[in-house]
Formats: sequence, structure tokens, C-alpha cells
Amino acid sequence: MSDKSTKPYRIGESQIHGRGVFAARHISKGEFIIEYLGEKITKEESNRRGLEREEYAKASGDGAVYIFELDDKYDLDGNFEYNDARLINHACRTNCEAVLEDGKIKIYATRDIQEGEEILYNYGYAIEHFMDHPCHCGFPECVGYIVAVEDRKKLRRILKGRKPKRK
Ligand SMILES: [Zn+2]
Repeated sequence: MSDKSTKPYRIGESQIHGRGVFAARHISKGEFIIEYLGEKITKEESNRRGLEREEYAKASGDGAVYIFELDDKYDLDGNFEYNDARLINHACRTNCEAVLEDGKIKIYATRDIQEGEEILYNYGYAIEHFMDHPCHCGFPECVGYIVAVEDRKKLRRILKGRKPKRK
């Protein structure tokens, strides 16, 4: 039995990238782990910050993007120290998912997670700019870039040099 009253996660050194978030105890499938905190901003402001970070990423090699889409009007910028969830790494094999719930982004376990395992979810970036987001997760199913699960086949075709068929 895991004690649900204690904080489920801790921050530590990741094998995948920089610092990561790890299970501090056993976490059950479906359990809420952490909320992705940040500043609610308009799409206009979001685009401005996105471009600014892209420039920074090109100059520094640190391609981190922390902006989540909330709805048609607003996004959430999680690039703040107080947002521990920004340290959760992407991987092509995951144990969590980000769920939009009442205007909040919450991270839930998609399977039982053992103490010490790294918390991982799919960032699900749009396939258009996949070259900007290489993945080094090291799992056998890694496609080499951070894209949504449903776009993996498409990306594999692109990487093979074959254009995906249009309907
Ligand atoms: Zn990967």
C-alpha cells in the first residue's frame, strides 16, 4: 500500500535530460501527481513569447518550450521556478498524461509507477516543426523527435524520405 498523503514526486537528475521529476513513492494508475502551474496568457502574448524562446533556443541550444494550450483564447506559460511540472521530461514511452480539467492542466499516472521511476509524458508537439525538437529518450520506440503518438507513423514515413499519401 502506498501512502497517498505524502507528496508523490521529487526532483532529481534525469538520464534523459537535465533535471527530471521522479516518483517519491509508489503511484497508482489513475492517480493525480502534479498540476502544471503557470501564467494564463492570451494567444497573442503566447505567440510573442513562443517566438522569443525560439530565438533563444537557436542561440543557446536549449529548446525548452513550456507553453500549453488551454483553449481557443488562452495558453498557459509554465516557465516559472514554482512550476515543478515544467521539469517533467518527454519520452516516447510514457507513464503519465497531461489532462486539461476545468481550465487546469493536471498530470495523471497512466499506469502504476514504482518509487524512483522518472515521471514521463508525451509533449505531443505538432509535427510541422519536428526538426526543432529532437528526442533522446533512449526507449526502443523512440522516433528521434518529439511528436504526438498519432503522428509517429507519419514521421517515420517522412524520415524515410517518402511523402505521406494525401487523401
Ligand atoms: Zn524518444
